[in-house]
Amino acid sequence: MSGPILSVEGLGMRFGGFRALHGVTASFPARMLTSVIGPNGAGKSTFFNLISGAFAPSEGRIAFEGRDITGTPQHRFAALGIAKSFQITNVFPALTALENVRIAAQALVSRHDVWRRRDELPGLAEEARSLLEEVGLTHRAGAPAGSLAHGEQRSLEIAMALASRPRLLLLDEPTAGMSPKETVVAMELIRRLARERTVILVEHKMKLVMGISDRLLVLHHGELLAEGAPEEIRAHPEVRRVYLGE
Ligand code: ADP
Ligand code: MG
Repeated sequence: MSGPILSVEGLGMRFGGFRALHGVTASFPARMLTSVIGPNGAGKSTFFNLISGAFAPSEGRIAFEGRDITGTPQHRFAALGIAKSFQITNVFPALTALENVRIAAQALVSRHDVWRRRDELPGLAEEARSLLEEVGLTHRAGAPAGSLAHGEQRSLEIAMALASRPRLLLLDEPTAGMSPKETVVAMELIRRLARERTVILVEHKMKLVMGISDRLLVLHHGELLAEGAPEEIRAHPEVRRVYLGE
């Protein structure tokens, strides 16, 4: 069967009396790149925090691979098969790029695969190398993480997130702070990653993701305004109005 890998039903979040997200029902097909877009304050980060387990929703349900995961604590998400990009604050700047990825992989072995034998640990170095290659950082493997350019650091964060071999990868504005050139490289990388797994990308800039997304969801004032293929979203009158009005 090829049902959605993730689905949300009536998803909502309140902060005190403020409704940041309300009644969002949507599904995310497997092995596709779906972007969640919307103007500032639309509820994108709130949505991201709910589907990545950072917040428990005030209303609604979340299902992953057909299983209800609503309220599952965030530290269990990697074991489920869901990863989000590491924040640079979790990277050791004095250690090399390769060492950082190896540590990320190792942390998962000790946490989730305790049955793995110790003599399999050297395999982690191999795995770390292949993850660096996947994000195009092989040539920087021996460089201290702190010396990498901003765009390279974001790629390193993605490599570390991939260490858990997620079937679903979640990225919130991965190109924030990147130069135009770094942004192009990052978009190509994200497109490539979506060939082997499902990617959900939260992004403010609609133009940036139009070309690489299989599907888009548009949030506005905390509600789902539209969903569809890029050409449908591009032609959607409400979406155009919302983005023009910014
Ligand atoms: P986006 O990522 O689309 O810019 P957010 O999800 O960050 O939007 O925010 C949606 C709305 O919820 C905004 O009005 C924001 O001010 C509000 N909000 C977000 N997080 C909090 C919070 N922790 N407490 C109170 N209000 C919040
Ligand atoms: Mg945001």
